[in-house]
Amino acid sequence: MSKPHIAFLGLGIMGSGMARRLLVNGFPVTVFNRNSEKSKPFGAEGARIAGSPREAAAQAGVIISMVADDNASRGLWLGENGALAAAKPGTVCIECSTVTVGWAKELAAAATARGCEFLDAPVTGSKMHAANGELNFLAGGSASTLEKARPVLSAMGKTITLIGPSGSGALLKLINNFICGVQVAALAEAMAMIERSGLDRARVLDVLTNGAPGSPIVKTVSARMTAPDFTPNFPLRLMAKDLGYAIQEGRKLSVELTTAAAALEDFQRAIAAGHGEKDIAAVVEPLRSLKKNPIESK
Ligand code: NAP
Repeated sequence: MSKPHIAFLGLGIMGSGMARRLLVNGFPVTVFNRNSEKSKPFGAEGARIAGSPREAAAQAGVIISMVADDNASRGLWLGENGALAAAKPGTVCIECSTVTVGWAKELAAAATARGCEFLDAPVTGSKMHAANGELNFLAGGSASTLEKARPVLSAMGKTITLIGPSGSGALLKLINNFICGVQVAALAEAMAMIERSGLDRARVLDVLTNGAPGSPIVKTVSARMTAPDFTPNFPLRLMAKDLGYAIQEGRKLSVELTTAAAALEDFQRAIAAGHGEKDIAAVVEPLRSLKKNPIESK
């Protein structure tokens, strides 16, 4: 079977790696990015470059979006020159960005009204996994749509899991990042304690990362905090966005995510201190530089 033409919208840290995986796997790809400078290198790699999401979508059998948040996604799909207006009936539309459940469902309804099929398919994994085709897709939608999308998703990911109906992938992704965000904030606070206490940081982190608290994210991020290396893999501002979305989703289910709210404060403090574009590991920086408790330091 011939490979469908893909419209790929959003060439940030994740989208650029994903679009390249499609190109190296032989899919015809048209790319669009708001900042057109990021599209240019893709021309030399075999992609067509579109001037709008609408133009990108016109020839596509599959449209994929990977952008920052609900607002960015809404603009790409439904805005002036949005992709959906040009999508042919039967086109498979896939939202891979981390968005709210409400927006994922609204977009699913808009795509269906247009005669298209829709999946919310956010991902776990980061920059390196996107570049290497090792993402994990968490899909919300029908099994038949997922089967149509599978060859395309397989070029970018190592696992593809159907979670449930539209919105389920979005919800699971927010739960996933709620837990990750809380772990990273707790690690940042622990790191500040360790560094101020005079404990041997390397020895202490060896115990922690090889013990019960040593989750994959704690292992990766503690190494970046100690290096320190804040090259963005997952930009800090996006973790703050995800914690905010998770808190909203929790409230809809009458679950107050108090740990997410506390973690969000740490991330917001880091954004206010100018670390929003850096990797999530930079959440430790304001905690490192906070003055000691005045009572303790007397
Ligand atoms: P990123 O590098 O900051 O890229 C964001 C992308 O969104 C860029 O293409 C940007 O375009 C576009 N964008 C932002 N606002 C826009 C708007 N108003 N209209 C049109 N385009 C807009 O972020 P990323 O790390 O690739 O993340 C993309 C998505 O994946 C996010 O939803 C994020 O939460 C999720 N995610 C990220 C990771 C990770 O580790 N990085 C992992 C899993 C999921 P410009 O280039 O023009 O700014």
